[in-house]
Amino acid sequence: MSEAAGGPLFFKVVTVEEARRSVLEALGWSTASRARGVEELAIEECAGRVLAADLVAPEDVPGFPRSTVDGYAVRAQDTYGAGESLPAYLVLAGELRMGEAPEKPLGQGECMAVATGGALPEGADAVVMLEHTETPGDGTVAVMRPVSPGENLVRPGEDIREGQVVLPRGRVLRPPDLGVAAALGYTRLPVYARPRVAIISTGDELVPPGEKPGPGQVRDVNACALAAAVRGEGGIPRLLGIVPDDRDALDRALREGLESDCVIVSGGSSVGARDLVAGALAELGEPGVLVHGVAVRPGKPVIIAVARGKPVYGLPGHPVSALVTFYLLVRPVIRYLAGADPFPVEPTVRARLGRNLASRAGVEEYVRVSLTREGAQLVAHPVLGKSGLISTLARAWGLVRIPAEATGLAEGEEVEVVAIPPL
Ligand code: AMP
Ligand code: MG
Repeated sequence: MSEAAGGPLFFKVVTVEEARRSVLEALGWSTASRARGVEELAIEECAGRVLAADLVAPEDVPGFPRSTVDGYAVRAQDTYGAGESLPAYLVLAGELRMGEAPEKPLGQGECMAVATGGALPEGADAVVMLEHTETPGDGTVAVMRPVSPGENLVRPGEDIREGQVVLPRGRVLRPPDLGVAAALGYTRLPVYARPRVAIISTGDELVPPGEKPGPGQVRDVNACALAAAVRGEGGIPRLLGIVPDDRDALDRALREGLESDCVIVSGGSSVGARDLVAGALAELGEPGVLVHGVAVRPGKPVIIAVARGKPVYGLPGHPVSALVTFYLLVRPVIRYLAGADPFPVEPTVRARLGRNLASRAGVEEYVRVSLTREGAQLVAHPVLGKSGLISTLARAWGLVRIPAEATGLAEGEEVEVVAIPPL
């Protein structure tokens, strides 16, 4: 398949699934985490980072029984049979103050005023809501409705149990996870170092976005779009700039790129005379080129190599192809290098297809769609246009996958739309 393997560089097309597996396997997936290292950060800095160790609860949360309502702490038994016409009269034995431990236990026939979240005294096993009481003014509280034991309170450890693994290693930390850490008294967390991802654009025609293109020139679209995509997956993009279609220049850029943890080249990945990426990747070292050509549209001419233990991608230059193949093939690997699950459960929506879609059998296809709402129903409208037209992807909310064996989808069919990440 590669020159290193003795053959000429021709497409030997594999499926998306095969391409993903082959690179993850070459990187040692399923053995250990491939993250570069671990750093400890203040919890305020940890959103979106990947937890590097199981987080074990050192204590129960809550640490004491707490009321979940404003009302009166009671012994449930004392309220049995209470009703509007025959309330249970309990002696008001005090007020439980927020942030303070109860001073005395609750005796039989007594109640104590408590606010939401307040600590319950020994002897109390339920709370009556304020709305279900009256205060006649004689030092008693009239309870108009019975409560059962455990009603309107949380028990110690009901939220989190001491010794429990509350957050597993590899978790991409979300706001509630950081709340859990705070509840347990963790102010710093170990997270994996973010992988560095070098990004190289190739093509004699490319100029940086800040320059006015001359005749025949176009601005580099891919570098900044791919950098944002890398950041969205927890990577640190390293922009190495534009490289002309010149082997020496490309080799130099790749050498610099290999100082990072992953390299993404866009452009020059096909089999034309000016497509130099496959040849350059084949000479980077063992195991070399694993994939050249993936049965996917947009995006067929993708090259994936591993050299010095690092993944190196040659993505097609067409901006839509570059981003879709990033999403399908590079993203799982960046997540893996970040210490996270390469294949997370994706948020998707279901929609009715707004028109018929033809598709070639044997190629997995990803159709850009925008969404509209018709009553309770979402409708997915294919955004048509060639894969060089970046605005078509910008107009799309997400992608609909047409499996390789399908020859199309019919208007009105229900489809699953996966959002173009990060949402
Ligand atoms: P290639 O994959 O090099 O054959 O390029 C395919 C098409 O994508 C050509 O029209 C290129 O000009 C265009 N292209 C390649 N790289 C980029 C880029 N970084 N930004 C915008 N267009 C690009
Ligand atoms: Mg090119």
